[in-house]
Amino acid sequence: PSTFQEVPRAPPDVIFNLTATYKADTFEKKVNLGVGAYRDDNGKPWVLPVVKKAEREIINDPELDHEYLPITGLVSFKEASIKLILGADNPAIKEKRVVAAQTISGTGANHLGALFLSRFYRKGSIVYVSNPTWANHKPIFNNVGFETRDYAYYDPKTIGLDIGGMLDSLENAPEGSIILLHACAHNPTGVDPTQEQWKAIADVMEKKNHFPFFDCAYQGFASGDLDRDAWAVRYFVERGFELLVCQSYAKNFGLYGQRAGCLTFVLRDSETALKVDSQLAKLQRAEISNPPAHGARIVSLVLNDSALFDEWVENLKTMSFRIQEMRRRLYVNLVELETPGTWNHITDQIGMFSFTGLKPHQVKVIKEKYHVYLTDNGRISMAGLSSKNVEYFAKAVDDVVR
Ligand code: PMP
Repeated sequence: PSTFQEVPRAPPDVIFNLTATYKADTFEKKVNLGVGAYRDDNGKPWVLPVVKKAEREIINDPELDHEYLPITGLVSFKEASIKLILGADNPAIKEKRVVAAQTISGTGANHLGALFLSRFYRKGSIVYVSNPTWANHKPIFNNVGFETRDYAYYDPKTIGLDIGGMLDSLENAPEGSIILLHACAHNPTGVDPTQEQWKAIADVMEKKNHFPFFDCAYQGFASGDLDRDAWAVRYFVERGFELLVCQSYAKNFGLYGQRAGCLTFVLRDSETALKVDSQLAKLQRAEISNPPAHGARIVSLVLNDSALFDEWVENLKTMSFRIQEMRRRLYVNLVELETPGTWNHITDQIGMFSFTGLKPHQVKVIKEKYHVYLTDNGRISMAGLSSKNVEYFAKAVDDVVR
């Protein structure tokens, strides 16, 4: 018998399973609102024109080779990533108290950040994540030995933020807890704190000496404005917090499979920054030796060239404005159908995802009767909507909530 015959079978990943069921469905008007990847108005993946251009330049460079990158990644990529998230003239950069490592996209940044904290943050600390959060957050922290708990976040009654509950949770968490915060475009709800609410969150975190762990997977993709989407992170830095931030270039560059990401630490002083840098290199060496080069080269080229950068911003606007337009059209359709309930949350929410407020039994009907695929919590990916199917989806919602 196999040494591993007692290994319990793990359930398949919910989101990837949903896509597989969608693919197997032969119904003509089927709609996939599960997947967290941008689609154009024809429902097709979109390679950003600026990425195509950068890629051609890289491939045509006669000097291109496939040597290893440094352990913590391409230096020009890291420097540009730091400037992108913190703002180019952030004093922390000049003070040399910021360090970064290139990671396996946002997931890898979360992992390396979690791994580092498991070694060097106070023992026995608990990681608090929003209720709900991205399905991978708890497993990532649990895998390196952390206990995770929820803080209140989403209020099903208002389909908005439960700010009172959130502040209470942070107040009641043990002093010095690690608090995972979505920098913008909260996944899965699409509900973000306002700037005033972020200030109140920072007040409690400062008082309780909590450590901010920012996850930023949608900078520029959320609002079309890179600075606006980085506001919360920059605000915490300005307030004097030590913190880390995970960046993903999956959504905002459309580089999903290239796995380009970055983990940045903002520290109190430059001496500590050097120490942290050395430990990140040591941890990364044992995990992956060196990060992948191609995606990082594309990002670096675009971020470091002002003409390409401007073009990227235009591409970002194309994506985020199409999503905002789908929010608006879904809202208008539901209002015109006089669908029971209020639907302002569809246009109030931000980013790729929206919590519709649909209940699991309604999700079941919409799946079976209309071949519309979404997760049981009622989350839809706005990117799956297009001018061709938004009306069909609105009618399906209208039917199942009546
Ligand atoms: N964090 C959040 C909140 C996300 O939504 C995602 C993407 N689904 C990620 C991190 C990381 O994704 P990736 O590893 O593809 O960059």
